[in-house]
Amino acid sequence: MAVVAWIGLGHMGGPMTANMIKAGHEVRGFDLDAAALAAAVGHGVTPAPSIADAVDGADVAFTMLPKGDHVRTVYLGDGGILSSAAKETLLVDSSTIDIDSARAVHDAAADGAFRFVDAPVSGGMSGAQAGTLTFMIGGESVAVADASKYIEPMAANIIPTGAATTGQAAKICNNLMLFINLASTAEGAVLADRLGLDKQVFWNIASVSSGDSWALRTWYPLAGVVPTAASNKDFAPTFTAELANKDISLAISAARSTGTPLEIGERVQQLFQRLIDADQGRKDCSMIVSLVDGSLTSGKVTK
Ligand code: NAD
Repeated sequence: MAVVAWIGLGHMGGPMTANMIKAGHEVRGFDLDAAALAAAVGHGVTPAPSIADAVDGADVAFTMLPKGDHVRTVYLGDGGILSSAAKETLLVDSSTIDIDSARAVHDAAADGAFRFVDAPVSGGMSGAQAGTLTFMIGGESVAVADASKYIEPMAANIIPTGAATTGQAAKICNNLMLFINLASTAEGAVLADRLGLDKQVFWNIASVSSGDSWALRTWYPLAGVVPTAASNKDFAPTFTAELANKDISLAISAARSTGTPLEIGERVQQLFQRLIDADQGRKDCSMIVSLVDGSLTSGKVTK
C-alpha cells in the first residue's frame, strides 16, 4: 500500500482516485473546488488543506489538471509541489497539456533532483471509472517504470513513449487524428443520408470498410445507430466541444513550433470554434455534425 497525493479531483481525477483506493492505497487529495473535493472524500479520499499537506510523506504525487497554466502553477508556484515535496516522491502529471509547459516542468523537476514523468491518458470518463485508461508515459526510463507500477489500478494499457514530453506528444497527435476522423465521419454520414442510404446500412458498410474509425464506431453523430453515441441524447457531453478544441489547438501549436502544416487539423479546429461561438461548447464534440446537416443556425440547433 502506498501513500498517494492527488491534485485535481474533477471528472477524471475523481474516478481515478476511486480506483487507487479500491487497490488499497491511501489517497490524500487537494482541489480548489470544494464540491470536487467533497465528492472525492465521499469515495474515500482524505482531504488535504493544501498541496504541501497532500504531498507530505507521499510515495507518489499525481496531478490531473485542466491546462498547462494550472500544471505550471501547481508544480512551480509558491507552495507548489517542487517547493514542498520530498525528493523521493515520484511526480506524475496525467493532465493533457502543451509541450512547452511539460518541458518547463520536466526541466524544473530535474534541476531540483526530482523524478517526474508526463503521463497523459486516453479513454475518457468511462475509462477513468472502469480503470481501463491508456497511459502514455514520457521521461527517464527508471521513473517511467516506477510510475507504471502505481498506475496499474487505473489502466488497461501503459505504454512508455520515450524521452521527456513524448507522452504529451503521443496524446496530442492521437487526438488530432481522432477529431479529424470525427469530422470526416460527420460529413460521410450526412452525405450518405442525403443520397438515400439507410443510416444503419451505411454504418454497417463503413464499419467493416476503409472508412472505419474509432469515432465512427463509438461517436457516430447520427442518432439511433451506435448506442454509446452522444447523438442519441441530444449531444449531452461524453467529451465536450471545448475540450476537443483545447486538444486540437495543442496539436496546432505544436505543429507551428515544428514547421508542420496541419491544413485539415486547422480546419477542424475552426469547426469546433464555431460550435463554441454558437454557445454549444459544453455539448458533445460530435455535435460538429450540426455544421454539416445545417441544423446549427445562428447559435441554436434547429432539429
Ligand atoms: P476537470 O476540469 O473536471 O478537473 C480539473 C480539476 O482541477 C478541477 O476540479 C479543478 O478545480 C482542479 N484544479 C484546477 N486548478 C487547480 C489548482 N491550482 N489546484 C488544485 N486543483 C485545481 O477536468 P477533467 O475532465 O478531469 O480533465 C483533467 C485533464 O484530463 C485535462 O487536462 C483533460 O484534457 C484531460 N483529459 C480529460 C478527459 C475527459 O474525458 N474529461 C479525457 C482524457 C484526458
